[in-house]
This record gives sequence, C-alpha cells and structure tokens, in this order.
Amino acid sequence: MKKIPVANPQIGEAEAKAAYDVISSGWVSMGQKVREFETKIESFTGAKYAVAMNNGTSTLQSCLATLGIGPGDEVIIPTLSYISSANVVLYQGATPIFCDSNVETFNVDVEHIKSKITPRTKAFMTVDLKGLPVDYDAFSRLSAETGIPFVSDSAESFGASYKGARVGTQALLHSFSFFANKNITTGEGGVVLTNDKSFAEKLKIIRNQGQEGRYNHTVLGNNFRMTDVQAAIGMVQLSKIDRIIGDKKRIALLYDKMFAEQPGIVTPVKVKYENTPSWYLYSIKVKNELRDPLVNFLEQNGIETRLSFPPIHQQPFYAARFKINSEQFPGASKAFCEFLDIPIWCDMPVIQTEIVANKILSFMKRAG
Ligand SMILES: *Cc1c(COP(=O)(O)O)cnc(C)c1O
Repeated sequence: MKKIPVANPQIGEAEAKAAYDVISSGWVSMGQKVREFETKIESFTGAKYAVAMNNGTSTLQSCLATLGIGPGDEVIIPTLSYISSANVVLYQGATPIFCDSNVETFNVDVEHIKSKITPRTKAFMTVDLKGLPVDYDAFSRLSAETGIPFVSDSAESFGASYKGARVGTQALLHSFSFFANKNITTGEGGVVLTNDKSFAEKLKIIRNQGQEGRYNHTVLGNNFRMTDVQAAIGMVQLSKIDRIIGDKKRIALLYDKMFAEQPGIVTPVKVKYENTPSWYLYSIKVKNELRDPLVNFLEQNGIETRLSFPPIHQQPFYAARFKINSEQFPGASKAFCEFLDIPIWCDMPVIQTEIVANKILSFMKRAG
C-alpha cells in the first residue's frame, strides 16, 4: 500500500528552471534576485520592508539584535514553540523567560505574557503555531501599555491573514521561515517583515556581517545572507502560495466536517477574531492515553502523522540549564500530550483525505 504522507511540498520543474537560470547567469550569492524576491514579498504582504535571510532562525535572532536585546535582558517566549525561539534569546546573551500557552489554540494569550513581565523584560515573542495567527491586537495593546516591544515568530503563518491583512504588519517585527516543510520553501530560508525603515536598515546590516560600506563593520552581525538561487526558487513558490493555502483549507474543512460527530476528537479551534490560518498543519487532539495507540494504528495503515516539538523547557539542554518545573505550564503540557498532526497538503485527493478521516474515526469508535 502506498503511504499517505503528512506533507508534500509543491516544488518541481518551474523552481528547477528558475534555479538553473540563476546558476547560468554566473551570479549565485545575494544579489538582484534576493531584492526582487523581497519586493514581491512586500507587495504580497503589504509590509513596507522585507529582508530575506538564510533561514528562519537567523531572521528571529536578527529581530532581537535589532531591538538591542543583550546581556541582563529578559525575553518572554512561549515554551510551546520550536527550539529556535529560545536559542536566539541565548545567542543574544539574554535570558529566555518561558510562559504557558492556551491548550485550545496552541498559542499564547496576553495573560500568559503578562504574568511573566518584570522590570528586566525587554521584549516578548508570540508564535503563530500550526499557522493560526495570534490575536495580534491584544498583544499590540499590551505592548503599548507596557512599552515592551513584541516580535512575532511567524515561521508557520506565512500567507495567513489577521482581520483582513496578511500576517507581517501586526507586530513590530515578524520572522518567517522558508524551510522545506513550511507552506512555501527555498530549501532553507527566511524573511523579516517590518513597517519600520530604521529597523529594516539595521536588519540589512546585521545580515551582512554588521557591514556598512565595504569592510566597514559597525555592529556585531553575522553571515545571514540568502542566495540568489534560493530567491529565484522562492519567487516561483510565492506565486503558488494562495493556491496552496486555499487547497489546504478545503482539506481542513473536510476533516472538520467528518470529525464533527465524534466527541473524542477535538478539531482546530475556531477563534473569535477574524483570521485565515495558513493551514501549515492540521492538528487534532485526542485523550493522552489514546494518542500513541492512534499513531501506531495509523502507521500500520500507511498513514503518516507527526508529533512536533515538546515544550522547550523540557528539552534536555534547557532542562539542565534552567531546571524549570513543568507545573507552571499546564496548557502547553496538555496540548503537547494530546495533539497529533495528520496529513494535509495541496492537491491531496478527497479520497485520501476520507481514508485518513475514516481510519481515525474507526479507531475512536473501537476505543469507545
Ligand atoms: C520552522 C520554525 C522556525 C525556524 O525556522 P528555520 O528556517 O528552520 O530556522 C522557528 N520557529 C517556528 C515556530 C518554526 O516552526
């Protein structure tokens, strides 16, 4: 039996041709193509400035560097995130302060951030997990009230919308990833979006070894440059984004409908504020004791599933360094124990979507 994969990147001939053309031109490092890609992203998202980089971890670190985050500073981040959210804080010499998340949305709420603010808090980070935009207006209000800037790790929500606008202009700085498993990919890659001109200028300097003018290094930067080959691939990918998100939405709605009558399966929550998720992942929740047996059952039936990252404070490196008690994070812990990412990809046939849903339903019925 042919396996049903959990994801299936939409990359092929057109991207190969674009990469070939760049290589044939003889200019493969950061150049005209990167700028073109950035311009296209600016008009797609409505953000004034796009700064493309080599991955979505560099972009996130550059956001913190741009804000001047350094030793002695605290940055509040949700523990339920990918490891880079915390690593970049440490790379800046600052201290990550973990907070809990909402068990229903996987995302942070304002209260979670608020409860961790101290006089040393220099920034907070929100993460659009699974591609669901956080309630940005609420975080903007918190930021305005406290004077603490906020950065969005939007790695999973490229192309999503919040109250009619694309994600990318709601926070001061948004970091996106174009890693292979994201909705659009450049193999490795990322971009920062901001409406602030001085931030954009700083980001470009940080991306290029802190250089302003040839061999004149004014700040501590790094080599975070994207290549023109990646940018050329990215432009083709960008032309597919609305079709990818639209098609994944079709699959999400079919799953929602098929799981509606089964109380043991919790489908992605419908939040009150207006938004369109990127549908990066479709996660269901089942009781913890059923989750791993369900994973095994689906695997035996040729259906791939994914558990993504455990809360960061539980990762061996962070556990050893910070010795944080998990009891502070009931939402994140529960969400992690119960969720399961099931197959969703552009052009996934209805018949395969139905096979996945029916297998899950038959398992749940037997489990009673
Ligand atoms: C993918 C991802 C990143 C990092 O992206 P890379 O391009 O792999 O460095 C950061 N945060 C979250 C939430 C992600 O999903």
